[in-house]
Amino acid sequence: MQDPARVFSRKRLAALALAAALLGAAALHGHAVVDDPVTDMPAATAAPKQNLTDLQNRRDAAQRRLDEIKAQISATQGRIDAANQLKAQYQQQQAAIKETIDLINQQIESMEQQIAELEVLIAQKEQEIAAKQADIDARWAGFKERMAAMQMLNDGGSIALLSNVTNMYELLTFSQTLEDIAAKDQQVLAELNAEYDELNIMKEELAAAASQLDASVAQLQQQKADLDEKVQELAASIQAQNNQISIDEATQQANEAALSEEEKEFNEATAAIQSFLAAQNSKYSTPDLYCSLNFGFPIAYYSRISNGFGSYGTNNWRKSAHGGSDLVSPCGTEIYAAADGIVSVSHRWGGGKSGNDSYGNYVMILHGKADDGNTYATLYGHMNTAPLVSEGQAVTKGQVIGYVGTTGNSTGYHLHLELRINNVRTDPTKYIPLP
Ligand SMILES: [Zn+2]
Repeated sequence: MQDPARVFSRKRLAALALAAALLGAAALHGHAVVDDPVTDMPAATAAPKQNLTDLQNRRDAAQRRLDEIKAQISATQGRIDAANQLKAQYQQQQAAIKETIDLINQQIESMEQQIAELEVLIAQKEQEIAAKQADIDARWAGFKERMAAMQMLNDGGSIALLSNVTNMYELLTFSQTLEDIAAKDQQVLAELNAEYDELNIMKEELAAAASQLDASVAQLQQQKADLDEKVQELAASIQAQNNQISIDEATQQANEAALSEEEKEFNEATAAIQSFLAAQNSKYSTPDLYCSLNFGFPIAYYSRISNGFGSYGTNNWRKSAHGGSDLVSPCGTEIYAAADGIVSVSHRWGGGKSGNDSYGNYVMILHGKADDGNTYATLYGHMNTAPLVSEGQAVTKGQVIGYVGTTGNSTGYHLHLELRINNVRTDPTKYIPLP
């Protein structure tokens, strides 16, 4: 391994104290997209000497738990939505049935009014029948008297009557009158009886109509009772859904609390990784490590930038801005050190897609402090094979450090290029020329 002191020019010793302070206190800033879940977290306080694998495992575990909790939240929300949907259906059914009950109540009310009207008519008829009966009775009494008188006359036994008759004509007339009266009585009685019968028929018709209405009302009452029962059943179903929703909402609250807790853990684990990267730069920072800012091409060839710095993509559980530039390039394309420096991280990919493994095989190069007082580092992610350089090794601008690949959390061959100024990720294309 080369001594960095021999490789890099000695300059600006006065800035060293400041550089060390900046490295130590730097608030890390950068962003992740789908190929880079090492997210944007302040990280200065995390323990720099923590084992990287531990950090990675901690972050991976937090990620897994986050995914589980999110799945639970999603499932619980699904149940709540389903219960609410069911509840809405029940409420609709209930409303429809209540409308029907209202209609039935109106019908019953109307029929009961008709029945009351019929009962008045029936009572009237009964009065008329009673009156008719009185007429008949009265007529019948008179008729009987007159018939008795006629009988006496016919029997010839009414000497007293005859003695009052002054002549034969008078007697005949009297007899005829009696007969006429009797005939009239019979006619009137027959008429009265016919009217009486007619009244009774009318009364029976009214009673039949009332009875039919009573039957209809009874039928409607039964329908109403059935519907009332259905409304009660639906109310019970709605209550059951409400109970389920309450339980699920309590579960959801617990889930949300767990999610918040786990996000905190994830963020801390993420910050620890950023801290690790910062600590690695700090570890290799020496007073004579000078960055000229004269950056060169970091790659032999690329076709386009698929994902620029600061762009937003979705990762598993939240959106955050991209911390570098993705240069689309064929597999195996040479990757160059953008400037002289010391390899502060040389990571051999462990096969994972998150945590420190999200960069796949990757290299970070510390370039040192520039005249502007800031400390510069570059990071090269997703290399096809293990890096060609090792941690602590001095590299020179243009040196091949690895080849384009798609290791780690990546979906296609590209170089994920980061520029870190005082450990804060910045748009690399503003400093580093591209072929
Ligand atoms: Zn990227």
